[in-house]
Amino acid sequence: MVAQSYETSTRALYAGEMTFASRPGAAAGTPAGAPGAASTSVLVVEDEPAIATAVARRLAAEGWQVETVGDGLQAVDAAARLAPDVVVLDVMLPGIDGLEVCRRIQADRPVPVLMLTARDDETDMLIGLGVGADDYMTKPFSMRELVARVKALLRRQQRAALAAELAAAGSGSAEPPVAVGDVVIDRAQRRVHRGGEEVHLTPTEFDLLLALAASPRTVLTRERLLAEVWDWVDASGTRTVDSHVKALRRKLGADLIRTVHGVGYALEPAGSGAAGGGPA
Ligand code: CA
Repeated sequence: MVAQSYETSTRALYAGEMTFASRPGAAAGTPAGAPGAASTSVLVVEDEPAIATAVARRLAAEGWQVETVGDGLQAVDAAARLAPDVVVLDVMLPGIDGLEVCRRIQADRPVPVLMLTARDDETDMLIGLGVGADDYMTKPFSMRELVARVKALLRRQQRAALAAELAAAGSGSAEPPVAVGDVVIDRAQRRVHRGGEEVHLTPTEFDLLLALAASPRTVLTRERLLAEVWDWVDASGTRTVDSHVKALRRKLGADLIRTVHGVGYALEPAGSGAAGGGPA
C-alpha cells in the first residue's frame, strides 16, 4: 500500500521535475545563499535514478559538491566517508530505509537531514517518531523549494556552529540561558530542561521551542514560525510546523504550547494562566 502510493508520487515527481530541471536558466543566476558555498557538500540518497539525477543536477548548479547513492547501506558509508554538510534522504530505499539511515548517520556525526516523504501523513508520523531529520518535504516538490530548504538548513547549521564556538570559547558574548516558567533553554549548549529534568530535542524542535520562548504568552503565526525556524517562507510548509509542535508537546508536556485555531501557537509557561501574571 505504501509502496504503491509512493510509486505514484515518484512518477508525478519525475514528470514534473524533468520539465523544471530543463527550464532555461534554471541553473544560472541563483546566487549561492549560503556562505562558504564553494566547499559545501551534499549527499543525495535516492534510489529512483531519474529523481536522483534531477536533484543532483539542480544542487550542483548551486556550486555545491553533490554525491548520489541509491541504497541505505551505501548512504551510511557515504555519510561517514564524505562528512557532508547536508543530507537529502529519501524514506523508501532498498536495504535499510531512510529512518534507519537517518538514525545511523546522526549517531555517527550530527548533520542536517532533509527527508523526502511520499505523503504528508508519512511526514507527521516520522516527526512523531523523533527520527531526527531537520526538515521534511513531501513528494512531488519543486526544485526551487528543495534548494530553498537546503540553503535554510545550511544557514541554521552555521548559526548553531557559531553558538557552539562561542560557548566553547567561554566568551562573554555567548547567549545566556532563557527561562520560561520551569523550562530552561540553554542556547549555547543547545540543551533544554523542564522541572530540572533534561529533555532531549532534535535540532529543529530546539529551534522551534526557542522561537516560541522568545515571545511567551504571545500567539505566533505558523508562517512566522516557519520563517524564523526554517528560515524560509512558503505556505505549504505550515504543516511541518504543526507536526513539530506535536512532537514538542509529546516531549515537554501537552500543557506548554497552546493552539490558537486558525492563527498559530503560543508558549504558555506553567502558572501563567492569569493575564500579566508572569515576571518580565
Ligand atoms: Ca525511494
